[in-house]
Amino acid sequence: DTSHGRILYLEDVSVSFDGFRAINRLSLDIAPGELRCVIGPNGAGKTTMMDIITGKTRPDSGTVFFGSTIDLLRYKEAQIAQLGIGRKFQKPTVFEQLTVFENLELALKTDKGVGASVFHKLDSAQSDRLAHVLRTIHLQAAVNRLAGTLSHGQKQWLEIGMLLMQDPKLLLLDEPVAGMTDDETERTAELFLSLKDQHSLMVVEHDMGFIKTISDGTKVTVLHEGSVLAEGPLDAVQNDERVIEVYLGR
Ligand code: ADP
Repeated sequence: DTSHGRILYLEDVSVSFDGFRAINRLSLDIAPGELRCVIGPNGAGKTTMMDIITGKTRPDSGTVFFGSTIDLLRYKEAQIAQLGIGRKFQKPTVFEQLTVFENLELALKTDKGVGASVFHKLDSAQSDRLAHVLRTIHLQAAVNRLAGTLSHGQKQWLEIGMLLMQDPKLLLLDEPVAGMTDDETERTAELFLSLKDQHSLMVVEHDMGFIKTISDGTKVTVLHEGSVLAEGPLDAVQNDERVIEVYLGR
């Protein structure tokens, strides 16, 4: 339900670890079909924020809603994934001994046993979905290759493809272009631009060139000390004195 124009909304969220406030009264919302970049220095709370959204970390206080009706704090991590929130960590995790096809096939059946599902025949809707995802991630030509033989960038796309097999409403991506070649980074930008509208994306990145390419006028959020320091178009936040101070000062 997106009747209030937001797919995700955090309000006044805080969490402390041993008395240290990693997230401090954080409020933020994401619109349906939005591609939101989140930046901020190390220790700003980016990972902890993702952990809270995905149910890995429970906040001490605040509100976290998915759409306008789903109170995410009432769900466990595994249930949140089922609700349609896909998360990709920085390092690629694909099944190296399986083909691209088999990796995507496996991703359809998270609730079933791994062994049983590999040889299970897909129904026609599932086959269509798999073909669509393969085109989206540009791995048609590699469909029968073992994932272990793919380049770093191709493995990252495959893992994104595995998330897409579940048709998530929201994708959370942690430094997706780290370690990619320039060409792979450019292709990843195209991929993300093709995914938005159909999905909402929250992308934590340090690569400013990449952010510039994908954030074409849309909002960038700067986190600092567990709260939003600045939010707006990239040009505006880059010229914000507080942001400059946080990155260059001290
Ligand atoms: P970022 O991802 O922006 O680099 P993090 O969310 O990883 O920031 O960390 C924010 C702060 O919270 C850091 O100071 C980090 O040391 C601390 N922190 C994160 N998780 C834990 C934890 N499980 N226990 C203790 N401190 C933590």
